[in-house]
Amino acid sequence: MRIAICPGSFDPVTLGHMDIIARTSVIFDQVIVAVSRNPIKNPMFSIQERVEMLKEVLSPYPNVTVDSFEGLTIDYAAKRNAVAIVRGLRVISDFENEFRMALVNKNLACNIETLFLMTRAEYSFISSSAIKEVAIFGGPVERLVPPLVNKRLKEKLSGRLAGNCFDNKEG
Ligand code: ADP
Repeated sequence: MRIAICPGSFDPVTLGHMDIIARTSVIFDQVIVAVSRNPIKNPMFSIQERVEMLKEVLSPYPNVTVDSFEGLTIDYAAKRNAVAIVRGLRVISDFENEFRMALVNKNLACNIETLFLMTRAEYSFISSSAIKEVAIFGGPVERLVPPLVNKRLKEKLSGRLAGNCFDNKEG
């Protein structure tokens, strides 16, 4: 059984993420989509909300499961007996950071590979932060995220307009 981890913040999951996860699920026997519990800047969705959305939108993929983890990705990957960490690569600016992380991880656990899948051209400009920015200013994001996420963004933002800030302190 060859297991791969797709780690990330997924705040929220986009069609760019979905594409990488779907392609990974063809290559590996089992894929664990792992939401990092490490704090990120201005999270819009709580860990629970992110996990719930991922579970729902990834339900058509029988060999994909969703989990969350705290601490180093490489430790989590080792704990789950993964042979690979799969990351998506978009523009050149992703490269430097990903290259550095892959080298650090290789140093920490030489038996776990980091693999990169090149983004699909039509998703190359999609990031969770761009989605949030567009949605906050009322722009259309329905062609960039799964329908459930579009709905959750609208709910979240209407709550925000009603006076509830993003109060997801846990990241
Ligand atoms: P992180 O904060 O760890 O980068 P993200 O949720 O932003 O978490 O991304 C998770 C993974 O998905 C990363 O490997 C990232 O490169 C990849 N990814 C995000 N958006 C896209 C996209 N549009 N196309 C391809 N890969 C993507």
